[in-house]
Amino acid sequence: MKLKKNLVAATMLAGSMTALSFLSAGTAQAQGALVMYCGVQEEWCRAMVGAFERDTGVKVSMTRKSSGEIFAQIKAESANPRADIWWGGTGDPHMQAAEEGLTVEYKSPKMSELQDWAVRQWEQSKQRTVGIYSGALGFGYNTELAKTNNVPELKCWADLLKPELKDEVQVADPNSSGTAYTLLATIVQIMGEDKGFEYLKALHKNVNQYTKSGAAPAKAVAQGETTAGITFMHDMVTMVVDKAPIKVVAPCEGTGYEIGSMSIVKGAKNLENAKKFYDWALTADAQKIGAEAKSYQVPSNKSTPVPPQAPKLTDIKLINFDFAKYGSSEERKRLLSKWDNEVKNLPK
Ligand code: PLP
Repeated sequence: MKLKKNLVAATMLAGSMTALSFLSAGTAQAQGALVMYCGVQEEWCRAMVGAFERDTGVKVSMTRKSSGEIFAQIKAESANPRADIWWGGTGDPHMQAAEEGLTVEYKSPKMSELQDWAVRQWEQSKQRTVGIYSGALGFGYNTELAKTNNVPELKCWADLLKPELKDEVQVADPNSSGTAYTLLATIVQIMGEDKGFEYLKALHKNVNQYTKSGAAPAKAVAQGETTAGITFMHDMVTMVVDKAPIKVVAPCEGTGYEIGSMSIVKGAKNLENAKKFYDWALTADAQKIGAEAKSYQVPSNKSTPVPPQAPKLTDIKLINFDFAKYGSSEERKRLLSKWDNEVKNLPK
């Protein structure tokens, strides 16, 4: 499977850093403004803004939201767009925005430095969104809580249905969260739609809360507020690095993954600065900022070292995720509305 092979190759790429600085800090002076909607963790968003401002002198106004929320905001503002650049978050709403004409085509001179999976995202979206990082979905559980509550070892998606986990699993709402939409699309691809929805309904019995943000369950597991949480594996790793008693699981049935993406908003008022950010964000140096901000995805620039803490994609059974299908406007709307109708409000 080509995508998987490319991702696996990416994890083995550590080393050969080009010490490439996009623009020297000395050029920093008033160079106009940029409005950025940021879809990753706040800490990484802020670090990106600080580094870009230092390198270019462009003043950035940044808003951090979850993937689906940014899509909804860009769509709502499309008659008079406020944002220039949409950086980060899962690829599916970026793909939907591309299809709905909310974002524009752009070919960066940095494309040749990117992994094949990042370029394919750009090709599939007709040049309207590009891959900036990748990471696998999974779950994590608090080993201390599990011991206290006699929860056996958890290895598979099926294990999250155990009665011992009643009200002890946390996951986000797929309408707001790209992480949770990736779960929905992953379960449907692994089990088929009928069995997949049966699984999600059974899981609902164990879910204590559908959070807005995809990474919130990782914090809740770390703080002992819930035994298990479904997130991208790297979000759980961030908690482990901070010494939380969490076991991170790559589910035995196989799992999906994301291609975190970046798009330029149609009607951007600061279009030149949006392109400047886009080119800068694809450089090896800018992509190193993720690991420095404790975000352990696989970067899309081939010369950015894969952080040693990043879950090893070679050890994970990845499915052949159909990004075009599950990022299409029709399929995404259909699945979200089916989840709302059949799962979200089910009595327990
Ligand atoms: N934060 C990190 C570190 C991510 O990898 C991703 C996925 O792209 C997100 C946040 C997306 O968050 P959400 O699920 O809230 O849309």
